[in-house]
Amino acid sequence: MSRLSTLSPGPIWKYFEEVCNIPRLSKNEGKIRRYLLDFAKKNGLYAKEDEVGNILIIRPSDPSMESRKTIVLQSHMDMVGEKNSDNPHNWAEDPITPYIKDGWVCANGTTLGADDGIGIAAQLAILTDKKIRTGKIECLFTVDEESGMTGAINLKPDFFSGKTLLNLDSEDEGVLYIGCAGGMDTLITMKFTPVPVPRENDSYDISVTGLHGGHSGDEIHKGYGNAVKIITRLLASLTTQYNISISKFDGGNLRNAIPREAFATITANPIFGIEIHRTVNEFLKTIKEEFGSLEPELKVSIKHVKNSNTVMDKESQRKLLRALAVCPHGVVSWSKEMENLVETSSNLASVKFLDDSTVRIVTTQRSSIESAKRDISSVVEACFRLAGADVQMTDGYPGWKPNITSEILKITRQSYIRLFGKEPLIRAIHAGLECGLIYEKNKEIDMISFGPTIRGAHTPEEMINIDTVIMFWDLLDDVIKNIPEE
Ligand SMILES: [Zn+2]
Repeated sequence: MSRLSTLSPGPIWKYFEEVCNIPRLSKNEGKIRRYLLDFAKKNGLYAKEDEVGNILIIRPSDPSMESRKTIVLQSHMDMVGEKNSDNPHNWAEDPITPYIKDGWVCANGTTLGADDGIGIAAQLAILTDKKIRTGKIECLFTVDEESGMTGAINLKPDFFSGKTLLNLDSEDEGVLYIGCAGGMDTLITMKFTPVPVPRENDSYDISVTGLHGGHSGDEIHKGYGNAVKIITRLLASLTTQYNISISKFDGGNLRNAIPREAFATITANPIFGIEIHRTVNEFLKTIKEEFGSLEPELKVSIKHVKNSNTVMDKESQRKLLRALAVCPHGVVSWSKEMENLVETSSNLASVKFLDDSTVRIVTTQRSSIESAKRDISSVVEACFRLAGADVQMTDGYPGWKPNITSEILKITRQSYIRLFGKEPLIRAIHAGLECGLIYEKNKEIDMISFGPTIRGAHTPEEMINIDTVIMFWDLLDDVIKNIPEE
């Protein structure tokens, strides 16, 4: 007997289990695409695919429902493959093995792929549901959401015809998402002249560690410390007081993470040794007081090390530290329409010496408004151009601006209240969704995103809450029944 066959609603879990059996990592969607096309054939439904592999399956309108607006249901067919290091799971061949535990469906030491397998399963269950009477439904399955969104990027605006879209790729039951941020990178390269270190100098490693860090979209508003900003402040003060030179700078890591740690190697005249230690310790006290209980693990430390061969020339060092001090980091503006939504932000993500004459700085910008995203990127650009650096901007991906007067939001909210007797939360997220790319191509389209509760997505701890799948299904079913006429 199948593991999930006891769960309800039966059809959605049946399809979810079938989808779990199909390997489908990003950029390796061949098997799941074949499965979807076979599914359409078996059920006598029209299906088509585009050049990049996105698939559309159509459920025609029931007789007497032809005047209803066409509705698009959207999910992505790929998943993230993460497993515990001792797990021999072969992502190209092996099925995911889900099991039930304490009201949740989990996987055995791998990602479960409920993100977005549950969205696919819901679409297949709707396509074959004999009980509901609906207008035309177009089910859109995109490829490669998790590793570059190339499916949504290359989607042609006329691949589907509906103007109302339900994205089934969010992870919090009770929340209706109506917007997301776009993002881009602003990348800086600064050249400098390596200068030999005087033999008599003393050198020190300085480190800033123990910060919270966090996701540069979801957590940018929390005010956590940026290790690069903090070490820059200390280095600037040491430069002014003791004329130190920098031989290494390495802060931050991932472009979409707030820097948790930063390291620098400095060199100075030995007469300043004691003073430098005293300044670093005083700085630690000051900075700990500023962050208070927000960053309890914050540490700043210094230790004596061997001299490096070269340091950055003084003029470049001055420019670099000034530019890093001025470079925006954190929330730039809040939404005027929605409470507690960050509209625009910038993350000073990393600074690294690539060799003895090049420093590379990575920054990322997000906004639900395309022009505001470009604007904050040009502020970062201006800041580093003043320092004589080379600056490049990536195209990035566009945002989806919240529309609080949206028709599909009104319908979904009313369905939610009718079914569950309470208000749903209405939110936008300060991170990317495929909806931003779809919206960019067709500004007429009215979209919403909702889903059951998933925890630990993209990790082997991923699990999906069984009760919220029932709620998700009931809501989807009720919204579809209440789509108005053209
Ligand atoms: Zn997803």
